[in-house]
Amino acid sequence: MEKDKSWTGLSKGEQPPRVRRKEINRQQLLLRPVEVEKLVDLDHPVRAIWELVGGLNLDPSYVEIESIEGVAGRPVWDPQLLISLWIYAYKEGVSSAREIARLCAYHPAYQWLTGLEVVNYHTLADFRIGHQEALDQLFIEVLGVLSYEGLITLERVMHDGTKVKAYASSKSFRRKTTLEDHLRLAREQVAQMGDPESEEWSQRVAKARQRAVREKQQRLEEALKALEEIEASRSKASEKEKARASSTDPEARVMLQGNGAYGPSYNIQISTDAQSKIIVGVGATQASADAAELEPAVDRVEGNLGQRPKQVVVDGGFTNQATMEAMAEMQVDMIGALPERRGVVPNRLEQRGVSPEFYPEAFTYDASTDSYRCPAGKVLKFEGEQQQSASLHRRYRAKVRDCQGCAFQAQCCPGTKKGRSLVRSEATPERVAFQAKMETPEAQAIYKQRAGVAEFPNAWIKDKIGLRQFRLRGLVKVTLESLWACLTYNICQWIRLCWNPRRLAQAQS
Ligand code: SF4
Repeated sequence: MEKDKSWTGLSKGEQPPRVRRKEINRQQLLLRPVEVEKLVDLDHPVRAIWELVGGLNLDPSYVEIESIEGVAGRPVWDPQLLISLWIYAYKEGVSSAREIARLCAYHPAYQWLTGLEVVNYHTLADFRIGHQEALDQLFIEVLGVLSYEGLITLERVMHDGTKVKAYASSKSFRRKTTLEDHLRLAREQVAQMGDPESEEWSQRVAKARQRAVREKQQRLEEALKALEEIEASRSKASEKEKARASSTDPEARVMLQGNGAYGPSYNIQISTDAQSKIIVGVGATQASADAAELEPAVDRVEGNLGQRPKQVVVDGGFTNQATMEAMAEMQVDMIGALPERRGVVPNRLEQRGVSPEFYPEAFTYDASTDSYRCPAGKVLKFEGEQQQSASLHRRYRAKVRDCQGCAFQAQCCPGTKKGRSLVRSEATPERVAFQAKMETPEAQAIYKQRAGVAEFPNAWIKDKIGLRQFRLRGLVKVTLESLWACLTYNICQWIRLCWNPRRLAQAQS
């Protein structure tokens, strides 16, 4: 480089040439022609949704509409449009009515659906929760289409539960005394509220404030009722801890989430046909455990498709005595894992200070008298039995005077005033048969497919549709939200497996 030139290549004092830039004119007015039909491509999924929804029987959605041709009154939005808007929005991970209303103003796919109109968010929000029977019917209609396309066989259905966060925070869970204090304050606020028309605020704001306080009072009253239910259903082990209910969503329950954390949630039960991973039944429950959920799930599938699945595949959370009996009665073959047996007995004995030499293996069973004989030669007689899961637990006990006079008492039954007891667990005939079936290679091969099928829709609904947390509160509304998400999932599968291949074939021919 020459000594008198800088790194820019310019000599000292030399000015660089001016760059010619494009001007941004924000003052101009433009009138652009918009051809609505060309806002989206021919293979855009929004066209598929409109086509599918338009081909369904939507009569249940029209029943409650009061705006009739030839009679005074404003026209209403067509349910075909509102359904299509919600389905497309869920598909894109949008679950807010306000967001859809905003998107209608500028997003080409929403503009194509509405013909450049903007649908008010109140209309969208009310429609989502206001037509439960029509939505159930719509879900069944779509299953009919999928069944016609050969995507559902009901030969094998994988069933699973997944926890979805409620629209409430963990901090909203309060004890009875706190809820009563909050309720008293809310009632005082309601009593002090004046006439909205005489408020200094605008009438709209005043009415909104009154509505908010009344809703808060209602939620607190519901939370106190929910608290009674929670207390009534609690096990003896958890009675010491005071029950809590959410003041935000009284129907939510604290559950263990997939990430290992506890939080207010609902348990969503999804049945998936193994043929093409189509959801054939969906329900929501407040029960944290899945133990009692398979029988209602099979009923839901039968209600939707008119027949029960031939076989259901579940994980260890569903396999218990009651479910085995119910499936046998319904003539549904159940494949599943048995609940894991944990080393509870040795742990409990260790905690009580029992020496390993006096663990159950050291006692001899005599079938002729149905009793045990302890290492000191004393008899433990049968005391009673209890059925848990798919096992029968039989309890045997030694006489108090035998143990109190025994030299081994400190090692065998320390600190107890009763005689030493022993529990013998026997598998029920149903469990024995189930265990034998599950040891066959065929059953094990079927079980291996479970996770791939059952967890596919769960992951799709959470990751693509975004249903990681509900936007609505209460069991009825979260059931509706789950149904919208599963309906969207099924329509996405129809687009993927039927509509797209057909369009491709048409384009190539
Ligand atoms: S404490 Fe009772 S059960 Fe245990 S060895 Fe002695 S007599 Fe038998």
